[in-house]
Amino acid sequence: MPQANINFGRLPERYLFLDIAKRVAAYSETHPHADIIRMGIGDVTRPLAPAVIKAMHQAVDDCAAPETFHGYGPERGYLWLREAIVKGDYAPLGVQMNPDDIFINDGAKSDTGNIGDILTPGSLIGITDPVYPVYVDTNLMRGNEIKYITCNAANGFTGDIPKEKFDVVYLCYPNNPTGAVITRCKLKQWVDWALQNGALIMYDSAYEAFIRDPKIPHSIYEIEGARNCAIEFRSFSKTAGFTGVRCGYTVIPQELMISDGKGGKANLNAMWERRQSCKFNGASYISQKGALAVYSEEGQAQTKATIDYYLETARIIRKSMEDCGLNPQGGENAPYIWAQTPDGMDSWKFFDELLNKAQVVVTPGSGFGPAGEGYFRITSFADRQRTIEAMERIKNMIKYA
Ligand code: PLP
Repeated sequence: MPQANINFGRLPERYLFLDIAKRVAAYSETHPHADIIRMGIGDVTRPLAPAVIKAMHQAVDDCAAPETFHGYGPERGYLWLREAIVKGDYAPLGVQMNPDDIFINDGAKSDTGNIGDILTPGSLIGITDPVYPVYVDTNLMRGNEIKYITCNAANGFTGDIPKEKFDVVYLCYPNNPTGAVITRCKLKQWVDWALQNGALIMYDSAYEAFIRDPKIPHSIYEIEGARNCAIEFRSFSKTAGFTGVRCGYTVIPQELMISDGKGGKANLNAMWERRQSCKFNGASYISQKGALAVYSEEGQAQTKATIDYYLETARIIRKSMEDCGLNPQGGENAPYIWAQTPDGMDSWKFFDELLNKAQVVVTPGSGFGPAGEGYFRITSFADRQRTIEAMERIKNMIKYA
């Protein structure tokens, strides 16, 4: 009889957002007329940019004629998109990038979850805590050892540089869930540490488009030496509303090497190409054409306007949380606001109270890791008017508690 992967036994019983969905569904069943405002899940709500819609319509039409039809695309993604990424995302930062450093995918979740295929099982992984749950769960599934690196107010939610060795460290800035950003100086400390210790950094910058402060780095490759120690993940999901369309990319510099376990070196770019050509058949031509349109002049202006809208919603949330005395952080160069529960209340207890007394859904901080206890996350992706209504309900609940 086949045996199940015993590593699944190391996973939390349910994925965080399924757990929340179950609790909300149970509440709705017993309160069918409740007007619930959902500010928990990090999905976007604004429509796609008109430039993207137009490009995808055109791409569908291309597929209607034999001369312009597209079947399987190239392994790494279409060159025209990889070139647009080099020109649109990295050249303005002064970062040298080659289109062959880039792999187009169907969103960052797949690659942040699958990248462990290129590491030997049992690797020691450092994961900042609190954290986007995918890094933890996928490493546990693979039989890797994980150790949390605590992120708190004292270290600006960017973790203390470790004294111990790790094979890999995951960093995510702007951060989900804390909304924290990392300074150039702190990111350099991480890169220097990785170079000195032979560690690999997995840098998730899925939210870089929310950065408005010119001092904050958008890419780890803005730091010297990062091409020799870091992989970067980016996504059109939050940049351009592609959560349903699906397109993102991973950067693996061609010179990036790790040990091959036999005294030599393994080239990660070549390994990832091998892995992708074996297990992945590409993001669709239509998605990639949509992504290309993000780099057009109209696409840039339209997607920026949408992010500005979310950032204004984030400002309203942050101000409301300040008014409640809940020490919010984030929400300035990020879509997430991370606030303390009143009087240090347990995160899930506060979640239940908010659901029951205010019919507002947030995400309990402890769902993102032990250091999230005593916090909760609010997203700025909900409708503006509904957000304002939710803020009023939270303020009232806290005032009359
Ligand atoms: N990385 C982070 C930090 C995220 O929060 C998310 C989604 O919420 C993703 C990656 C995955 O995004 P997608 O797969 O839609 O590109």
